[in-house]
Amino acid sequence: PKTIAGELGTSTERSYVMIKPDGTSRQIVGDIISRFERRGYMLVAMKTVVPSQELAKEHYIDLAKKPFYGGLVKYITNGTPVVAMVWQGKDVIRQGRRLVGATNPLEANPGSIRGDFCVSVGRNIIHASDSHESATKEIGLWFHEKELATEYRPIAWDMIMAD
Ligand code: GDP
Ligand code: MG
Repeated sequence: PKTIAGELGTSTERSYVMIKPDGTSRQIVGDIISRFERRGYMLVAMKTVVPSQELAKEHYIDLAKKPFYGGLVKYITNGTPVVAMVWQGKDVIRQGRRLVGATNPLEANPGSIRGDFCVSVGRNIIHASDSHESATKEIGLWFHEKELATEYRPIAWDMIMAD
């Protein structure tokens, strides 16, 4: 791909989505993936990773000054695999955030992933990039560019992505 997070507002836009250790442990990986597929998004990359301290710290570096940072890194590095994914399609960054729901599950609407599956902000099961800038950083942090399959098209792609 020309740029790792694609072009914002087009069908090449890409987001980094990650099922956190509690999501994997609770065996809701399939349900979560289904929601992105059903919406029409295209799976570009996916792998399990047991994150190192270094990787978890870098992923959340913008929160390094927050009081919960240490606990957050500990949660992500508890030894359970995360499911690291890249999804592609029109508005996937903003739509991904809506599918995921609010950070605090108390604010997450039923029907969203967090709104359906969790109650604690510190165990909110999933991550999704919040901007094109974050998506660029996060896709690059978790994947090599050669791991991204951006050239194929799902069968209903042109219908779903039509203007
Ligand atoms: P997100 O983009 O919706 O995931 O939220 P943020 O980027 O603000 O925070 C990243 C992650 O840090 C969240 O998903 C939570 O897992 C965790 N987090 C955020 N705020 C809090 C908090 O107040 N307490 C705790 N324990 N964790 C938090
Ligand atoms: Mg965030």
